[in-house]
Amino acid sequence: MNYNPASKKAEEFINHEEILETLEYAQANKNNVELIDQILAKARLKKGLSHREAAVLLDCEIPEKTQEIFELARQIKEEFYGNRIVMFAPLYLSNYCVNGCLYCPYHLKNKHIARKKLTQEEIRREVIALQDMGHKRLALETGEDPVNNPIEYILESIRTIYSIKHKNGAIRRVNVNIAATTVENYRKLKEAGIGTYILFQETYHKESYERLHPTGPKHNYCYHTEAMDRAMEGGIDDVGIGVLFGLELYRYEFAGLLMHAEHLEAVFGVGPHTISVPRLRRADDIDPDEFDNGISDEIFEKIVACIRVAVPYTGMIISTRESKACRERVLKLGISQISGGSRTSVGGYVEEEPEEENSAQFDVSDNRTLDQVVRWLMELGYIPSFCTACYREGRTGDRFMSLCKSGQIQNCCHPNALMTLKEYLEDYAAPETKRIGEALIQKEIGNIPKEKVQEIVRKNLAEIEQGKRDFRF
Ligand code: SAM
Repeated sequence: MNYNPASKKAEEFINHEEILETLEYAQANKNNVELIDQILAKARLKKGLSHREAAVLLDCEIPEKTQEIFELARQIKEEFYGNRIVMFAPLYLSNYCVNGCLYCPYHLKNKHIARKKLTQEEIRREVIALQDMGHKRLALETGEDPVNNPIEYILESIRTIYSIKHKNGAIRRVNVNIAATTVENYRKLKEAGIGTYILFQETYHKESYERLHPTGPKHNYCYHTEAMDRAMEGGIDDVGIGVLFGLELYRYEFAGLLMHAEHLEAVFGVGPHTISVPRLRRADDIDPDEFDNGISDEIFEKIVACIRVAVPYTGMIISTRESKACRERVLKLGISQISGGSRTSVGGYVEEEPEEENSAQFDVSDNRTLDQVVRWLMELGYIPSFCTACYREGRTGDRFMSLCKSGQIQNCCHPNALMTLKEYLEDYAAPETKRIGEALIQKEIGNIPKEKVQEIVRKNLAEIEQGKRDFRF
């Protein structure tokens, strides 16, 4: 197999030999100051790096250079994403699954986990609970089961979710994280109005992938790895990739992730919309210590920083798998989206499960409520954003990328973040959160470059106080 980023074949665009050579090259050059300086100089142009260049930075062990990487990651984060952090929550629809994934408690052989699938009425109740927290953006999660969770079930659930208008609440963007499927099904998801299609590769290492997915449709490495190509052929232009850190060597996964991004860019002219960085967690019958490739917090931070530097235009997502302390550190280095108040059980937002009835996918580390997360973000100087404007205005795929590249984001995303935060403060915030938020909004209006836009925002904020909702640029 030859390496070819523009190929449609998994083993050519995620090429094992190319990854091995990349890792060797990175190891050989990890103390090569001259090369590292050249790579850093290229990275400072903020147009990204190749997987080989980024791999050298990841391996670099020179403390001053590592500091420079972190500093640059912070700068890029600030320049491209400002201090906005987009909020979302996962919604587990069903944990029925026919796969045999060794790291996931939903695997078919797990006979003691409680199996649950939400009815449309139960989805309604979950969504109302999420709306009452203040959420506007969801990520749907299911196991893979063509009988229990067919595409029709997912489509019907999306329709239900978008139709629920409870008080001032609304779910305005539904992202979907379901198993790899056909072009036809991706087309149906697109028609249903989904935002991003998210699918984690789990591991890019084919041999490990096949060992970790011994049975079920997910066993097929190429079908899984080529899923984003089918999704894009089906018309979905925002796709989210990720690996589950802990399964394989992180250096291998890092190179694989960037090669995947390069492949999508080469074939479709636009890279992934987001990269997620989940780490393996304890779960029902899963002990993360049984996996050999767990990574320290230090390495995790470096991975986040190096991704930020390598693909500046790609959003980065962190979930409640990570603790408050860890989330705080990586927010600075490049994370642009976080979940808050999450439940990983099926039906978990309406009522907490009794212990003997556990349906959760993994234990969460950050157990705070959404309001606590919102307040914490603001105290750290971030603007929690409930914005969903881009995809509703048709700014997806390359159109979103051109918005980033044009520098117009400050006149668009920044006001949208402030207006959606204002909605949150009016409708859902605790008094102290509201007080902090109002002060933050007043301060941040001044950071909108165009005066005309500032004026419109002031007018809209006043109207939000009067009960109007859903303003956007
Ligand atoms: N079933 C879908 C598929 O086949 O891709 C994806 C949905 S699954 C509910 C979401 C993700 O959770 C998986 O892709 C996996 O990376 C992650 N996951 C599974 N087990 C986990 C664990 N023990 N700890 C942390 N994340 C886990």
